[in-house]
Amino acid sequence: MLNIRRIGIPRGFYYYIYPGLWEAFFSGIGIEPVLSGESSPKTLELAASCSESEHCLAHKIFDGHLKSLQGRVDAVFIPRLLSIKKRHICCAKFGALPDASRVGAAAHIPVISAELDENKEPLKRTLIRLAKDLGANKDKALHSVLAALTAMAEEKEKRKTEARNIPSTERFLLLGHSYTLEDDFISGSIKRKLKALDIFVELMTFGEGPKEPSPVRWCTFNSIYHRLQELDLSQYAGVIQISTFNCGPDSVMVDKYRRICRSRNIPYLLLMIDEHTATAGIETRLEAFCDSVWWRQKMKSCNQA
Ligand code: SF4
Repeated sequence: MLNIRRIGIPRGFYYYIYPGLWEAFFSGIGIEPVLSGESSPKTLELAASCSESEHCLAHKIFDGHLKSLQGRVDAVFIPRLLSIKKRHICCAKFGALPDASRVGAAAHIPVISAELDENKEPLKRTLIRLAKDLGANKDKALHSVLAALTAMAEEKEKRKTEARNIPSTERFLLLGHSYTLEDDFISGSIKRKLKALDIFVELMTFGEGPKEPSPVRWCTFNSIYHRLQELDLSQYAGVIQISTFNCGPDSVMVDKYRRICRSRNIPYLLLMIDEHTATAGIETRLEAFCDSVWWRQKMKSCNQA
């Protein structure tokens, strides 16, 4: 078996879907986790040498992170995500990710993988098996998995507490996948601009537990769908959706979200980000959107007076 002392964790996709989990898991079984840095234009430069031009932007960024780990680790971890929520499925790209990486960005790095499928077995059981496969004995495997699951629960709770503590009833909800909302290259400039405009922003969180299946079976898309249906309009001034170029599911779902917002009278802005998106253009659209929401609120209060 491969002797793995340092394992690479690319800062993309599964890293954000399971916040805090992987560092605690690998540390617990005695393997040092090595996390790639924050996304930047350099990440896209690295991706350009190894990533498929047809990949979605989030996948290219993931490839850039993989490449940045080359030569620094004994192996990289790339799970096959089939379902992160019972009775739901992931984007098909996640099912092929380890294979696509082995012939692409991780062609020169050994890949450790595991199939995560909540429709087949709970995450805890999958992780215990992975820990044993990586050489941990029964006690160590169980202990590290429990510690990792606790670390993830704490991280998710921290995000929810941050959202609850936003001191405004006029916040904007930022919609997207965890790996797009938390990626600095994709959404960093958007968050910074909104902060400069003194707008409070809440990021969509995905720790709400299983929801009833809706017409939407994709995991994260289903959470967004329910969130928009249930959004408390007294707490939010509007919704800003971040979508990334070449995202197939987004191209199907965005129109559905737009229609929900229209029917519920929620101001909605869609920002499509690609690797060449200019910050100035995004900032202008954000300013225009915030102005229009502000005018709308002013007119509403005038009509009520
Ligand atoms: S959901 Fe969209 S952004 Fe995410 S991996 Fe699939 S295609 Fe890429």
